Amino acid sequence: MPSSYQGPSRKDKMSATTHSQSSESNLKHDTATVRKVLQSKGADVFALRPQNTLHEAVEMLRDKRVGALIVKDSEGKLQGILSERDIVRKLAETPGQTLAQRVEDVMTTNVETCELDDPLISVLRKMTDGRFRHMPVIDDGNLVGIVSIGDVVNYRLNELEYEALQLKQLIVG
Ligand code: AMP
Repeated sequence: MPSSYQGPSRKDKMSATTHSQSSESNLKHDTATVRKVLQSKGADVFALRPQNTLHEAVEMLRDKRVGALIVKDSEGKLQGILSERDIVRKLAETPGQTLAQRVEDVMTTNVETCELDDPLISVLRKMTDGRFRHMPVIDDGNLVGIVSIGDVVNYRLNELEYEALQLKQLIVG
């Protein structure tokens, strides 16, 4: 223990609760929502039309550096989701003939979505149980973003780092 260390006094204990100990921050964790993740990662949604080819899809996946694309019709209505996993499966099933196929023949049409005020924990649970890593976010019937497991983990990591910093500042003074 450094010689300059002084244990907390009774007064310190009463006034200096850490970020993770305060009832306010505990509440914040309990209610961390999809909205918070979108605020930090942005609302970009990269989308294709059902008639696009898988070749166009793999180019978009590469250029945008994402793992899944939303499929929308000309009116912007959600039609499906296409992830790199769907393309890998198709590559195995139809070697040499995959890239010319249409997105609508490969995408998943039964898309699970979440809402802005959904708690992150329930979104993670749905993704884990359903074995998928992406969730489109719907607000008032409109698509307003997409969250991935990676986004949620990244958000939580940042929070943990912030908490660790707060704790360190409290100890070092
Ligand atoms: P992923 O883990 O997101 O790469 O996707 C794995 C499989 O689940 C692929 O067949 C996707 O088309 C599908 N999938 C991805 N996200 C969703 C979602 N939100 N709802 C339903 N299926 C999905």
